[in-house]
Amino acid sequence: MMKQISYQDLTNEFIDKVLNENNIITVPIDVEQVAKSIGLKVLDYPFQEDISGVLVINEDGATIGYNPNESSVRRRFSIAHELGHFVLHADKNSSGMFMDKLLFRKNITTYSTKEEAIEREANYFAANLLMPQELVISEVNKLNPNKDDEENIKVLAKKFDVSVSAMTYRLVNLGIYYK
Ligand SMILES: [Zn+2]
Repeated sequence: MMKQISYQDLTNEFIDKVLNENNIITVPIDVEQVAKSIGLKVLDYPFQEDISGVLVINEDGATIGYNPNESSVRRRFSIAHELGHFVLHADKNSSGMFMDKLLFRKNITTYSTKEEAIEREANYFAANLLMPQELVISEVNKLNPNKDDEENIKVLAKKFDVSVSAMTYRLVNLGIYYK
């Protein structure tokens, strides 16, 4: 039996490699550049419905579509999330599509357990890509200890160009912040 590679290992391996190869040492992470650096196209799609992002794979390659009507932090998270589907879940050799609704994070009850796991994994990937552990730690060390936590989290969210809730969740996951 081959040892199964976990999505966490795949995520961290991919991110270490892509940050190194693109010499990315500062934030915010240019998530579009990261996607393009591995050959994906990134386009704004004029979605009519409540779609936040899609990943389309066909004979021309892979394309991430994002909703231009969303805020910058949500667009960035959506692109990173779709990139997560590409790295972790997509069969690169056959045509297919992943489509994400705007409220997929809140509307999680409409997903089956397997779909839920896939969405959770893509969110894990997105959080790790937009807020890499080493860069989070180095920015946390620059914070003003006299400010309260909420203010400091806002400062970090702005630096990483992510939402305050995404930043908070990441800090809790890294064991840096206890609510
Ligand atoms: Zn998804």
